Amino acid sequence: MSSPPFPESNLTHQILARAREGGYAVGAFNIYSALNLQAIIQAAEANNSPAIIQLFPWSLHFHGPHFISYAVSAAHSASVPIAVHLDHCTLPSDAELALSLPVTFDSIMVDGEVEYVKDIVEKAAKRGVTVEAELDRIAGGEEGLPPPEKVDDGKMTDPKEAAEFVKKTGVHFLAPGFGNVHGGYPMGGPEGCWDLERLGEIRNMVPEEVEMVLHGTTPAGDELIKEVVKSGVRKINMNGMVRKGYVNAMRENVGASEMKWQQEAVRAYAEDVGRVMREVLGSAGKA
Ligand SMILES: [Zn+2]
Repeated sequence: MSSPPFPESNLTHQILARAREGGYAVGAFNIYSALNLQAIIQAAEANNSPAIIQLFPWSLHFHGPHFISYAVSAAHSASVPIAVHLDHCTLPSDAELALSLPVTFDSIMVDGEVEYVKDIVEKAAKRGVTVEAELDRIAGGEEGLPPPEKVDDGKMTDPKEAAEFVKKTGVHFLAPGFGNVHGGYPMGGPEGCWDLERLGEIRNMVPEEVEMVLHGTTPAGDELIKEVVKSGVRKINMNGMVRKGYVNAMRENVGASEMKWQQEAVRAYAEDVGRVMREVLGSAGKA
């Protein structure tokens, strides 16, 4: 039996294409450690849900290539489909490094101009890796991201420009800017800032097989995220919004034994991730 052609052969593509067919979304969870990795895999397996694990370029340097290899091996050995993604690759040297690893990511996100994105799409295809890009910089910062030059440099994506950008670059996944930012929101929060009408227009203008990605979810309420899923967004990035229980469990148990605090922290993290899979994304039971 021959394997399907690229990008159908790619795991991130497969996970998101199935989500489109099933009308649900898949969480993309940022990890900073082996404990985080373990929590996401546990939650996905316990809820029979697909998942995406994402790392910042920071991990390429802090943890090194062996950790990427470990994360990919652990994710791909799970009993449910779990892809590994490189989030927010702003430096061409990091994208090149990622694509040169013996064991690499299923997909990577690059932030930058058309030429850079197009170049990486071509290079990544040779490794069977799919690419996500944002059209206009989604402003704000989160742990692991370089700080924005200005706090207010987030721009709304023009639906027509989005369609052109996808055509010119060949990206597989698009992260539009529709009032979403990383980290802190102004008064009114995501509920007051997100332009869902614009998001719907962007979805309509861009070819159906190019999946939409949501960044800047913290601290959006469940109902708002469900609306976004209804608009056809299939990859929902979740970082801060599923880490509170984990951080609290660590704080509460840090004086206990090394084994105890790790177990408690992973348990709390997996619980929060499982909750969004069941109650918000609709991915539970879909693996
Ligand atoms: Zn992001």
